[in-house]
Amino acid sequence: MALLLRDVGKYVPTDLKNQSACMNCKLIMNEGQWSRLHGRCPNCRSEVETTQDYVGMISLMMPQESWVAKWNDIRNCIPGVYAINVPQLNEEEMTAKSNTR
Ligand SMILES: [Zn+2]
Repeated sequence: MALLLRDVGKYVPTDLKNQSACMNCKLIMNEGQWSRLHGRCPNCRSEVETTQDYVGMISLMMPQESWVAKWNDIRNCIPGVYAINVPQLNEEEMTAKSNTR
């Protein structure tokens, strides 16, 4: 995905507080940024679950060149800050969540 460098700032956390990560691609942004995008992840292009319960952080500026990106399987993602690991929802939690909607 081609992304202009000046657009990158939109998806980089502006504050160390209130950050959460996309549970799908692990992109980390501030709550304010997520709400500005209405919870739609710029990588996943859909509304996603986010979690504050992530582990580790990677900042990714050149996804195509980065071995870190290759290693974490985020080479096709936009430049930004990513969690190294996010807890995956298990089946029970998924069912519980969809039942409450
Ligand atoms: Zn995502």
